[in-house]
Amino acid sequence: MNKRDTKSTVLIVDDEAEILTALEDLLEDSYEVLSTTSPEHALEILTRVPEVAVIISDQRMPDLAGDQFLARARAVSNAQAILLTGYADINAVISAINTGWVCGYAHKPWDPEMLRAMVANARERYLLGRELSLERALLNGVLANSGNAVSFKDREGRFVRVNALKAAKFGVTPEDCIGRFERDFVDEARAQEVATIEAEVIKQKRPIDTVEERPMPNGVMRWFAVCRFPILDQAGNVTHIGTIQRDVTEQRQMEERLRQSDKMEALGTLAGGVAHDFNNLLMAMLGNLELAAKRIDGDERVARYLRNATAAGRRGAALTERLLSFSRRKEIRSQLLDINETIRNMGDMLERTLGGLVEIKTELDPELWAGRADPEQIELAILNLCINARDAMPEGGVITIATANQDIRKRMPDLAPGRYIRLTVSDTGRGMSAEVRRRALEPFFTTKAGKGTGLGLSMVYGMAVQLGGAIRIQSTPDEGTTIELYLPSADAEPGVSCETDRTAEVPQIDPVRILLVDDDHSVREVTAAHLAALGHTLVEAKDGPGALDIMASDQRFDLLVADFAMPGMTGLDLALRARKVLPDLPVLLITGHAELPEAAENMSLLIKPFRQEELALRIAELIVKD
Ligand code: ADP
Ligand code: MG
Repeated sequence: MNKRDTKSTVLIVDDEAEILTALEDLLEDSYEVLSTTSPEHALEILTRVPEVAVIISDQRMPDLAGDQFLARARAVSNAQAILLTGYADINAVISAINTGWVCGYAHKPWDPEMLRAMVANARERYLLGRELSLERALLNGVLANSGNAVSFKDREGRFVRVNALKAAKFGVTPEDCIGRFERDFVDEARAQEVATIEAEVIKQKRPIDTVEERPMPNGVMRWFAVCRFPILDQAGNVTHIGTIQRDVTEQRQMEERLRQSDKMEALGTLAGGVAHDFNNLLMAMLGNLELAAKRIDGDERVARYLRNATAAGRRGAALTERLLSFSRRKEIRSQLLDINETIRNMGDMLERTLGGLVEIKTELDPELWAGRADPEQIELAILNLCINARDAMPEGGVITIATANQDIRKRMPDLAPGRYIRLTVSDTGRGMSAEVRRRALEPFFTTKAGKGTGLGLSMVYGMAVQLGGAIRIQSTPDEGTTIELYLPSADAEPGVSCETDRTAEVPQIDPVRILLVDDDHSVREVTAAHLAALGHTLVEAKDGPGALDIMASDQRFDLLVADFAMPGMTGLDLALRARKVLPDLPVLLITGHAELPEAAENMSLLIKPFRQEELALRIAELIVKD
């Protein structure tokens, strides 16, 4: 409801009752009128009725003089006051006006029109005061409780109002800012930038939005979405400039991470696909080379050619393996792991590898949670990170390897909430530019022309992600780099040990009858040749349905050897259906990349590319077990 349309309350105080009556008659049409002959009683009324807008008080009263009464009324009420006196009291009136207790006076006898006008004026002032203090309370509420930094400047650029958050960005209190300029708190270049935008706001008379990176008092850079807007007077001139500044650093980081993880996901798919096909080619090459080597009847020169070709093929296989680990398609063998222990065991090796110019420090959390990972991969990751650190410090420096527990509560684009082990490798080297930092995880991205492979960080990334963790890169040019690996902590379950290394000791077994299924012709041919060389008999099928057809009429198989990744029906699907016909049939799945689901009983895995010896070993294990 609009205050101005309702009747305001006027309180009249005079020791003569007739005067009260006369004034009531004069005012009651337009106001709610309260009246009393006692100033003490009037004070009571004021405490009880806060909405009294105007007080009209006699000066000369026996208990309490009017000016004294009004002075006390100030303490309990915001009402505007009019003093009613005879000329004899003019000194009291002057002092009451000068001390601000009253806004006017009328003398007895009064001119009715003039008195009405005075009361109307006083009411107006009262209402304005009320509105003003409400506006001020609203503004204060917003300034104090907004999560944004808010400030107002006059046209000359002096701060006139600043909330606590804004002042904190300068490292001072709001009072410290009043009357001062931007340049008193920030460097010249920055102040100039701000002045330019503000001049534009004044010129265009409309808000301007920007996103700005600014240093905080502690030196850390943060991002802000800033809105600067003009405050106009009635004539439409800009009198002030308001600024609302919202910290968007975290939002930007989130977006950046999301973009980054999308990109890595896409690269992973691409690299994984290439590596998978490549692996099949290598498999065929290496297999044929191995078969050929067995048939050259001591021709030493040909043997050397074949050895060279095999070595090159194996280097290719090592490369695809790293690509597969980047694309997270490499099978991971994890075990409960004390990462501190792993780091301690690497001490000597690191010193030898990294050379004398770098000093290696460790800061290991003694209470570190257990992790679950492949110790060799963790070692390889740490080694990769340390080598990168050394490469970034050609003049020498310090590498710090640290571990800590970290409980992550907030969901992030690349990390689910949970308990993590944070493994950090930091250096004091030359750091990375923003562009290098953005691309560092990409496979084959390197700045070490000719000397780097660009597969180090991508391998570390792939491992971290495959373990359910993440990697973070912080780097400042000329200051150094910190790489953080977040690895999920193992829940306290009994240790599952790493698959023990297979020894090359192959037990001799009698020939068996094998059903071999692989959709890739050249790989199947090589596998078949190996199996034949080992003395086994085989029947071949080029896909799952074909294999099932064969099994429908012929069930004399001792073993099923199937490629895992076949279109339509996977090796595992096939194995499960074959088991319906021959429940105890041993199965060997050949895989290049797939992470197998809980392998069923009596199934074994062989990773491509493999050597004949490994194939023999797996078959022996499956057959001997029976
Ligand atoms: P490579 O070491 O073979 O170049 P990486 O994948 O290990 O490949 O690293 C990719 C790139 O990331 C490097 O070429 C280098 O530019 C940058 N980089 C990685 N680690 C650091 C580091 N600690 N300091 C500075 N730059 C680094
Ligand atoms: Mg590297």
